[in-house]
Amino acid sequence: MEDQRGRLRALPSVDEVLSRPAVRALEVRVGRAAVKAAVRQAIAAARERILSGAVNGSSELVPDQDVLSRAQREAAPRLRRVINATGVVLHTNLGRAPLHPEALARVVEIASGYSNLELDLDTGHRGHRSAAIEPLLCELFGAQAAHAVNNCAGATLLALAALGGGGAAVVSRGELVEIGGGFRVPEILAQSGCRLVEVGTTNRTRLSDYAAALDGLPRALLLRVHRSNFALVGFTQEATMAELSALARERSVPFLHDLGSGALELPEGLSETTAARSLADGADLVLVSGDKLLGGPQAGILLGRRDLVEACRKHPLSRALRADRMLLAALEATLRLYRSGRARELPVNEALGARAEQLSQRATRLALELSERGIACSVVESEGKVGGGSMPLARLPGFGVAVQGGADLLDELRRGDPPVIALLREDRVVLDVRCAGDVGELAAAVAKAAGQAGERAPASDRLGRHPSGGCAPDGTEV
Ligand SMILES: *Cc1c(COP(=O)(O)O)cnc(C)c1O
Repeated sequence: MEDQRGRLRALPSVDEVLSRPAVRALEVRVGRAAVKAAVRQAIAAARERILSGAVNGSSELVPDQDVLSRAQREAAPRLRRVINATGVVLHTNLGRAPLHPEALARVVEIASGYSNLELDLDTGHRGHRSAAIEPLLCELFGAQAAHAVNNCAGATLLALAALGGGGAAVVSRGELVEIGGGFRVPEILAQSGCRLVEVGTTNRTRLSDYAAALDGLPRALLLRVHRSNFALVGFTQEATMAELSALARERSVPFLHDLGSGALELPEGLSETTAARSLADGADLVLVSGDKLLGGPQAGILLGRRDLVEACRKHPLSRALRADRMLLAALEATLRLYRSGRARELPVNEALGARAEQLSQRATRLALELSERGIACSVVESEGKVGGGSMPLARLPGFGVAVQGGADLLDELRRGDPPVIALLREDRVVLDVRCAGDVGELAAAVAKAAGQAGERAPASDRLGRHPSGGCAPDGTEV
């Protein structure tokens, strides 16, 4: 007790630690704020060690080395590149679609200097910022007009606010979905100022349900929402796009389709409703994401009838949700890859279209690299997922490498440099190679983490944590 009190009294002050030569030298490298935060943390950690009786007589209470490593962590970026070894291609927790190098190069070029973002170079007059990509969007998606905003949730909010006019939005009960990350159709509707009018039942909604709801509604629109992240099977029924479109025309109300996925061209064997299909089937306005199956940056794209797109563009929310130059630069470059027949090169399409034998070879190479580093492992089958709330039933047969280890190893992998996000399957960690990038880099990261996990306490001492640290294993949003 006396010892403990003595040691607490012997703890140095923040200023004392800050004045040590080694700590002062650190300031030059990482800045005073990071060093100060690190010193406070190191002193707090020392206090805890004293209180828990983990300090022996001779050890230094606040070692320079501890301050140093904490300061380095303080100064390092928190948003980091990670290796995606989950096999989920559009993992919302991991940033969805990686950009193509040409899209990245355009971001660097446009954002590192000035650009004609809102200037028409032909006339010298002010232009609007999505003018550069509109013709491309119209051509590729087969739309009369187009407008780009920050993301698809924003596009949906904007369209409902601009076209709903505070009236009713008629939606099937089978489509009142939650996409994830706080996007719930009824809540977005409420925010848009529209009144939700639910029709039909969870599993069956007929055209006559919509028609009956529209009777006696002075201002209304029809909204169809793509189910995206779940499937309805069994005793089900829904009105077709053509039926809804005919009804909308007959009653002179707009027909909106919140489609989400944004697919333009998918690898063989995968199919998803495209915006072109939706427009051809009679939707007046279709809303899609940029960073899902399109394989571009985060974006929301409105496509369809000119008068409706113009009404959205002119609405005040359009300004609040506007696309920035980096989004526009990356989106334009991504669209140009489609236009020049190079869509297959997009990272999302490469990952989705990877053949099983290709993945098997990659997994074999990873297993070899790991074995050379003394890690016992085996190649296993591992089914990938599209993720990002797209195509929940699509099967992507693939391969991974299983290594001995549980939640401890998973934690070490995630805390590594670069962090590796892997899967826990029973008592083994599986590294799916589909989206994991360079095999050599992954092997080195796994070897480092396996060493760390080996030195730590066994899993029984560290109970009670979600094995994947809160990151949804299937790419849905949590
Ligand atoms: C994903 C999705 C959204 C949200 O798109 P974000 O680009 O993430 O904002 C909206 N609607 C549907 C149907 C979706 O699938």
